[in-house]
Amino acid sequence: MFIICGAGITGLTIARELVRRGISDILILEKEGVVGKHASGRNSGVLHAGIYYSPDSLKARFAVEGNRLMKEYVKERGLPIRETGKVVVARRPEEIEVLYELKRRADAAGSRAEIVDEKTLGEIEPHARTHEKALYTPLTAVIDPISILESMVDELRASGRVEFRFGEACAGHRGGEIITHRSRYPFDFFINAAGAHADRIAHSFSLARDLLILPFRGTYRRLRDAKSHLVRGNIYPVPDLRSPFLGVHFTKGVDGTVYAGPTAFPALGREHYGFLPESIREAVSILYRDAVMFFRNPPFRYNAMREILKYIPGFFYRDAASLLRGLERRDLIPSRKVGIRPQLVNWKTKELVMDFVVLKDGNTLHILNAISPAFTTSMAFARWVVDEFVQT
Ligand SMILES: Cc1cc2nc3c(=O)[nH]c(=O)nc-3n(C[C@H](O)[C@H](O)[C@H](O)COP(=O)(O)OP(=O)(O)OC[C@H]3O[C@@H](n4cnc5c(N)ncnc54)[C@H](O)[C@@H]3O)c2cc1C
Repeated sequence: MFIICGAGITGLTIARELVRRGISDILILEKEGVVGKHASGRNSGVLHAGIYYSPDSLKARFAVEGNRLMKEYVKERGLPIRETGKVVVARRPEEIEVLYELKRRADAAGSRAEIVDEKTLGEIEPHARTHEKALYTPLTAVIDPISILESMVDELRASGRVEFRFGEACAGHRGGEIITHRSRYPFDFFINAAGAHADRIAHSFSLARDLLILPFRGTYRRLRDAKSHLVRGNIYPVPDLRSPFLGVHFTKGVDGTVYAGPTAFPALGREHYGFLPESIREAVSILYRDAVMFFRNPPFRYNAMREILKYIPGFFYRDAASLLRGLERRDLIPSRKVGIRPQLVNWKTKELVMDFVVLKDGNTLHILNAISPAFTTSMAFARWVVDEFVQT
């Protein structure tokens, strides 16, 4: 039996690939009662175009193909999609060079992107601000992540080859069996696709001891409906290429709602969506790790200082208004949308891990650091993972 731990987009797309290769007897264990409770259901819903990532990365390798496959999937099934493209704007003269670097990365990844002047930007996004130049890609699209997850669950169930056990967490393993609070399941092959908990599961198999997840909290604000016409598609700032986060941006969702966000401030738990963290013990251990990173890693310190300012509405507004003309402070209203990005840290070097990590040990496979754009890349990445690491 193949056991997959986690029914997020990573686990579901890997299961689809196994089914495509004729495997039956696949069991997916998901600790929550439904899909989409964590990153796969709490993201910006953007199908990225592969313009950001360092050319030798798995992110760069799978973004364009993943974008194409996901669009195809969504269209075949009649799920919502907005193909509006995206602009990246420069707020300062020195950011123009980064636009050209993004263009080089886009070309290297086989994506489509062009540098445009202010006049052309005005035709694409009439209210976007920039300094002289901007980058435009037509490949970016926005989807509804939950509808995709639900559709994949239905499809996998209908195949008759996959069984789901919702509300059942992988709690440990012994002698070739996965143990949950209800039962024990013998496995021929085990796949860890547990998102924010994937490091713990890998550690329980004595793997990746130096790799730890630090959670970052992404909060959003919403644009008042009366102002949603200010954004047609996606308006992003020039990113800090040393950071895995893309900066607060505007995205118009499939229902026309415009969100500004997400932030990326250290969270106190892997599932710290509300005001209080889930566990004081975990919060203390995360605070300790954040403090060590704060003193040992200057870019981490710089980002943390900038991110905390975004909790001050005036600062968040100024940051957002640097991308958009006609935005008033009262146009940004609180939103309940919040997600946690489980970012992997190499504890030996105290560096954030920038790419996805895949570890195989015997008949177990572990997907770590499936951070953004892992929703976009998922279908192409899953194909490669199964080809490369799973004997079917
Ligand atoms: C705020 C935010 C914005 C983002 N924006 C984008 C975007 O616009 N575009 C994009 O491509 N990507 C985006 N991402 C990234 C993307 O959402 C994630 O990379 C992707 O969803 C990761 O999927 P996953 O299946 O690996 O993890 P998850 O979605 O977290 O799924 C893991 C699943 O495993 C389950 N699980 C955990 N532990 C256990 C256990 N012990 N037993 C059983 N089940 C378990 C969890 O309940 C969960 O359902 C964003 C992420 C965030 C947080």
